[in-house]
Amino acid sequence: MAAAVTLAQQGVNVTVYEAGKTLGGRARRVQHNDLALDNGQHLLLGAYTETLRLVELVAPDANVWIRQPLTLRTLGGMHLRAPRLPAPFNTLIALLTATGLSTAERYAALRFMLVQQLKRFTLLTDCSVSSLLKQHNQPVTLVDKLWSPLCIAALNTPPVTASAQVFLNVLRDSLVRRRADSDMILPSRDLSALFPEPAAAYVRARGGQIFSECAVSNIVTETNGFSLNRQHYSHVICAVGPHQTARLLSDLPQLGALRETLAQLRYQPIATVYLQYPPSVKLAENMLGLSGEFAQWVFDRSITHAQHGLLAVVISAEGRYRSLSHAELVGQVDQELRAALGTLPAPLWHQVIVEKRATFSCDVGVKRPSQFTPQPDFYLAGDYTDSDYPATLEAATRSGVKCAHFILEHT
Ligand SMILES: Cc1cc2nc3c(=O)[nH]c(=O)nc-3n(C[C@H](O)[C@H](O)[C@H](O)COP(=O)(O)OP(=O)(O)OC[C@H]3O[C@@H](n4cnc5c(N)ncnc54)[C@H](O)[C@@H]3O)c2cc1C
Repeated sequence: MAAAVTLAQQGVNVTVYEAGKTLGGRARRVQHNDLALDNGQHLLLGAYTETLRLVELVAPDANVWIRQPLTLRTLGGMHLRAPRLPAPFNTLIALLTATGLSTAERYAALRFMLVQQLKRFTLLTDCSVSSLLKQHNQPVTLVDKLWSPLCIAALNTPPVTASAQVFLNVLRDSLVRRRADSDMILPSRDLSALFPEPAAAYVRARGGQIFSECAVSNIVTETNGFSLNRQHYSHVICAVGPHQTARLLSDLPQLGALRETLAQLRYQPIATVYLQYPPSVKLAENMLGLSGEFAQWVFDRSITHAQHGLLAVVISAEGRYRSLSHAELVGQVDQELRAALGTLPAPLWHQVIVEKRATFSCDVGVKRPSQFTPQPDFYLAGDYTDSDYPATLEAATRSGVKCAHFILEHT
């Protein structure tokens, strides 16, 4: 949709085919009776400049999110809040004044950030996040309280395999450039209504077409372009998920090596456990860290979406929770919430959504394909394509915008 909006803005007649009923892919609305849930809680950062720009382009007057300075609070643990000061002082002071960290832990975190800044957040050779933290003598307790949750939240990959360079890219872009980059942005409408639906309206208003429930089954080259869904197109931007891409390339013989690259990607899940408590249940913040065995973060949908009493618990990356049934997982998460929040009434209903391939696993040495392929006029967009960023809305958006700009500049 980022590519489609960028092309439509310049007067190009675009057509979008979407296999699903609801626009949004891995960031979409999931209907629960008359309640609009999401397939997962999405947190954006101020550094997501392209995503934020495009949301504002297609929905300029809408109040679509809650924006606040970086705040990390773990129940019974750490509390860190960035003051409104220029970067990097805002994050350095946030670390220095964090509660729930010992003085030694605070200085270790500060030292780590200052050393990375001196090295411009660049490694000569990539390594895992765990080994980078070990090289910099980060105390195990600090890793558990701060770095590991940040790594899992940002890369959706456990620190033992996660790419330290991508982790440093995220720290660089969100913490030390501009103050606003570290802002946390929580959507206050469902994810389909946040961007893809207003984007579709924007594209249609400029003569483009959006077809949902309309999968592309194959793509064939023909003179001056491609044939797909019995129509001729001069260019194709293939923006399906990485595990869905290879099948669509099978009639494009020049892309054999690309299919092999895609086959090597590993994936990480994300589970979201929605628990509807009576409307009086409310958290002190819209998002809190948890230190139970499974539950990692809890989001209060009453603050963001006026869905009173609805808590959404997020569990990112692979873990033992995958061996539990949904009923067992709900029971476990409910217990962990009780341990963290104190007495809670019984939940009225629950819904579990597990995205098995939420993101590619952002491991050391992962090979991400370029947006530009050996097949002329055929491009790839998506969070898995070459980027400084892990699999995020911003990586997906930037790749789409990049493909669109290339097409606009070369036709
Ligand atoms: C639970 C969860 C939580 C997340 N949390 C965050 C977060 O907090 N912050 C963040 O930045 N990112 C987060 N992400 C990641 C983010 O959602 C993804 O990086 C982003 O949505 C990927 O977008 P994409 O366009 O690359 O791919 P997708 O969203 O996967 O889009 C691909 C689209 O192609 C369609 N498609 C597939 N095959 C075909 C076909 N043959 N024909 C037509 N259409 C087809 C699919 O239906 C889909 O709509 C999260 C992801 C999940 C699942």
